[in-house]
Amino acid sequence: MSDYVELQQLRDRGWPWHKSSGGLTPMFGEDGWCHSCGVPKGPQSGSLVLQRRGLRVEGAWVPNWQFDVICMTAELGRVAAERFRLETRVVRWPAGPVGDVVQIVIPTVGESWFDPEELRAEAIKRHGVAGARCEECGVWRWMPLGLSMLPPLRTPRSVSADVDIAASPEWFGDGFNAFRQVIMKRELAEFLVEASPRDFEINPNVEIIPT
Ligand SMILES: [Zn+2]
Repeated sequence: MSDYVELQQLRDRGWPWHKSSGGLTPMFGEDGWCHSCGVPKGPQSGSLVLQRRGLRVEGAWVPNWQFDVICMTAELGRVAAERFRLETRVVRWPAGPVGDVVQIVIPTVGESWFDPEELRAEAIKRHGVAGARCEECGVWRWMPLGLSMLPPLRTPRSVSADVDIAASPEWFGDGFNAFRQVIMKRELAEFLVEASPRDFEINPNVEIIPT
């Protein structure tokens, strides 16, 4: 049994602001992400901004569009930061005071997590094509695949050495949608499920071959 699991998302909560950038401009800067494929050009430099209207601030959740971002109340974030090796950053609103919500900033770890040939075969099986290279920024995105559809992860040991939550260097997605695969320590996933059982469940079947 692996120490790492996938946190499966049962629903989305909240919409990033502003709509035209899918929430990316506040997080990465106007020039910090590719406007053609939606892949950021570097690490997150600013705060995620969420629209407050209609959002119930409670427990932990994943917003729309930015599916490798996990938000939570600041109170929960403080406990998480004490118990786990992770970085949080304050989430802002288009207007009004900040400080009641934070997100986990999920670091990209390693050079590759998957054997490209195995990944290619799986993507073609599901989608007919493996993926595409963005003409604008040159980033290769594999066709969208959930972790449960993927070949075994061949992740570096540094994942378990340094952090309790990590994202893949490989990008996935199609059109304007871009995301990374995320794995986390089982205890962290259990913590988040306990906080928000209607938002998350655990997929324990993550096969990891340390490299
Ligand atoms: Zn691009």
